[in-house]
Amino acid sequence: MNDMILLKQGELVLKGLNKRSFETRLIANIRKALAPFGEFDVYAMQSAVYVEPQSPDCDMDAALDACGAVFGVNTVTRAAACEKDMDAIFDTAARYLGDELRSAASFKVESKRADKRFPMTSIDISRHIGGRLAEAYPHVRVDVRDPALCVNIEIRDTAAYVHGKALRGAGGLPVGVSGRAVTLLSGGIDSPVAAYMAAKRGLRLIPVHFASPPYTSELARRKAVELAGILSRYCGRMAVETVPFTRIQETIGQSCPEGLHTVIARRFMMRAAERIALYHGCGAIVTGESLGQVASQTLQAMTVTQECISLPVLRPCVGLDKREIIDIANSIGTYETSILPYEDCCAVFTPRRPRTKPPLREVLEAESGLDVEGLVGEALEGIVHGMDRTGYK
Ligand code: ATP
Ligand code: MG
Repeated sequence: MNDMILLKQGELVLKGLNKRSFETRLIANIRKALAPFGEFDVYAMQSAVYVEPQSPDCDMDAALDACGAVFGVNTVTRAAACEKDMDAIFDTAARYLGDELRSAASFKVESKRADKRFPMTSIDISRHIGGRLAEAYPHVRVDVRDPALCVNIEIRDTAAYVHGKALRGAGGLPVGVSGRAVTLLSGGIDSPVAAYMAAKRGLRLIPVHFASPPYTSELARRKAVELAGILSRYCGRMAVETVPFTRIQETIGQSCPEGLHTVIARRFMMRAAERIALYHGCGAIVTGESLGQVASQTLQAMTVTQECISLPVLRPCVGLDKREIIDIANSIGTYETSILPYEDCCAVFTPRRPRTKPPLREVLEAESGLDVEGLVGEALEGIVHGMDRTGYK
């Protein structure tokens, strides 16, 4: 039996002229996701993507799981391929879905005939195979309205395919089709969720983490790197850019009014992130900010935070409350790592009473005494790229 994986594209099929390039990207992303699980042939035909193992030692369960996490995949199912012949189709359905047919209360057969040269209509195919399956499994009732099991038969150009229920895939658009963005990854709960949601809309991400050693530990940085690793299942492999932030924070701490420390620090983050973004050809900066969650996330604080840059700031969590963010963090597997108790640099010089409505005029005045360009330039020179090199002892 030819066990394979059948994927249906989601929004992709709607994209008309871009369809080809979207499809190419989707296939490249699927190939990358499958690389650890054996050798597979991946190709698209008639709005479906076929994943065929090329050797018996391919890990099909892991491959199914990995395919389901690729953005742009709407549904995913294991399927059996067979000859386009009614006996072969019946045998395959009985063998492949026999266990499910034995335990289901009711079933129906649904057929699709993409190959119009096939001599029977889809209704005839369903009737014929349905009748034979009903005979072979007499205790399972035929129910065309609301069956417990749907036996799907697809007659395509090269072969017939039989499969049961398709599982929901990750949805969204293939990573890369919407361009690139820098994503600010703190190590908290929100920013990995924001990165996931941005990637879901087709953005390829470059994660940037700000570290303030010795106030923040190497463990805090490793946590951000680990989160990027978990996200790579959805976003593709990513190398974290770690920006040394100590001198900026110390300088702000020494010379700016305490209530403005956070917003000024965040403006420096934005400046550095924008420089990294432009270097990598990114069109946006993604953050895990939500609205009103903390003092630095009021509308006024956000406006002042982004005032010093021109790239748009995307905040995918803005419409979510904490519970919803935690639900997503759990479902994508980042929550447990996010709650590890390593301090973030934002917590280092937290003002006792942060200004919730920092006036831009006061912020600019406070910054006028700083060598902004020099500080940003120095931080960028100290960037540590990638997973294992550590920039500090
Ligand atoms: P998170 O749960 O993502 O840490 P938060 O609720 O703690 O967010 P803030 O500390 O105000 O909120 O940070 C807001 C956003 O700024 C974060 O979601 C992240 O995108 C970015 N950010 C904060 N600290 C860092 C950091 N050390 N490195 C990179 N980005 C950061
Ligand atoms: Mg945080």
